Amino acid sequence: ARAQAMEVDESPEVTYDDIGGLEAQIQEVREAVEEPLVNAEQFDEVGIDPPSGVLLHGPPGTGKTMLARAVANETDATFIKMAGSELVRKFIGEGSRLVRDLFELASEREPAIIFIDEIDAVAAKRTESKTSGDAEVQRTMMQLLSEMDGFEDRGEIRIIAATNRFDMLDRAILRPGRFDRLIEVPEPDAEGRRRILEIHTQDMSLADEVDFEHLAAETDGFSGAELASLATEAGMFAIRDGRTDVRTEDFEEALEKIEEGDQTEGQPVAFY
Ligand code: ATP
Repeated sequence: ARAQAMEVDESPEVTYDDIGGLEAQIQEVREAVEEPLVNAEQFDEVGIDPPSGVLLHGPPGTGKTMLARAVANETDATFIKMAGSELVRKFIGEGSRLVRDLFELASEREPAIIFIDEIDAVAAKRTESKTSGDAEVQRTMMQLLSEMDGFEDRGEIRIIAATNRFDMLDRAILRPGRFDRLIEVPEPDAEGRRRILEIHTQDMSLADEVDFEHLAAETDGFSGAELASLATEAGMFAIRDGRTDVRTEDFEEALEKIEEGDQTEGQPVAFY
């Protein structure tokens, strides 16, 4: 059951350099997660507790998972990912057991970063969700909080959670000693979009004329994930045309295709 519900990555490959437009967020994650792992004595000497848990919040596809993976890479920690939705199980006690397994696995593999995606699935306000009124979901959340209370003495484990439904969260999980460091991960601005496009095209054969400044201006509202698929899609148009160099016209076609897709399938649902 463990193997199914958790993703364990001993040496994640994402680095901070692969992340575009989130300089301030990278800085905050380094302070809140990386420093306590690599400089634990410093916190001891100063006499403060490092943040218990870090919560990344923002729209889908903006780089939250990448940030968590990159910090694990940078600290040579095992990256252990679990989706909050996996913790919401049918059988009594299953969610709590998975939470216990999660922390147990982390202590076997420390240093470790536990990443819980879609934390809202277990920690929504009762009024906001059908499932969170469920006593079983409440129990799972209590188990998570109690593991967090206990794990400070347990060594080199840090916990990062993510949500794109911040407003739905039960405020109880944001109290000191819980997810007490909030980091907002917004949609990229024009400069961020330019940087993300550069990152995702660095291995592509680009024609000289391709102008990232211009593409960034044309992609207002795109997330990092959407920019990544724009680059791939542009490459596909080049291939379709029997070329190996990717030109401005390919990006324009890719943009058109993505925008048309938006119209036929309706706008992407924004939960945020
Ligand atoms: P979700 O809330 O949907 O889980 P997320 O915020 O965790 O999304 P990621 O999984 O980190 O998003 O990003 C998905 C993909 O989109 C990444 O693998 C990467 O290819 C691309 N991407 C997203 N944000 C960025 C970014 N800031 N810089 C570079 N690539 C990005």
